Amino acid sequence: MPSIGLHLALTLFFLASCLKGEDFKPALGLLPFGLLCDLDSFIGVHRATLHNLFIIFVPLLAMVICNRLNLNIRAKYFILASLLLAFHIFLDAFYNGVFLFYPLSEKSYDLVFWFGLKETGLSVLFTWIVPGKVDEIVYVTNPSPGVPEIPIIGGGAELVVLIFAVLTFVLRFKFS
Ligand SMILES: [Zn+2]
Repeated sequence: MPSIGLHLALTLFFLASCLKGEDFKPALGLLPFGLLCDLDSFIGVHRATLHNLFIIFVPLLAMVICNRLNLNIRAKYFILASLLLAFHIFLDAFYNGVFLFYPLSEKSYDLVFWFGLKETGLSVLFTWIVPGKVDEIVYVTNPSPGVPEIPIIGGGAELVVLIFAVLTFVLRFKFS
């Protein structure tokens, strides 16, 4: 599964590219939306309770409620929160799969994408496996509260990417 560090790095890059330099506080407020799906490792069913398509609409629902209550929060922050949730879920979907339609369906969707050169020329593969690999990764095949491991930083390359992401974020919001 993508590590927490990789999700954090992509969130930092995304916010640095979408928000203006003076939006440091909104950027900090949006940061958790790139990570909070993984709270279902502790509450509920991992890769299911907070890793489904319905979760993506929660910030948009909050936007409608805030509008009704005349709370003056800009629409783009809610949309960015939704996009961060969506990015997290689809990234995980390419790493062993997620229960995209939980709780309506208990099928895991493990998306597969490959693009490159083979002896026959350019080749592209896009497919999905339902369910996941039964023997290796039980938790993406059968929804269950157990999680085999939660990497925080999965390797040296991820560490370097995370350092660059933090630098990008700091340079964007503190020195622009
Ligand atoms: Zn996740």
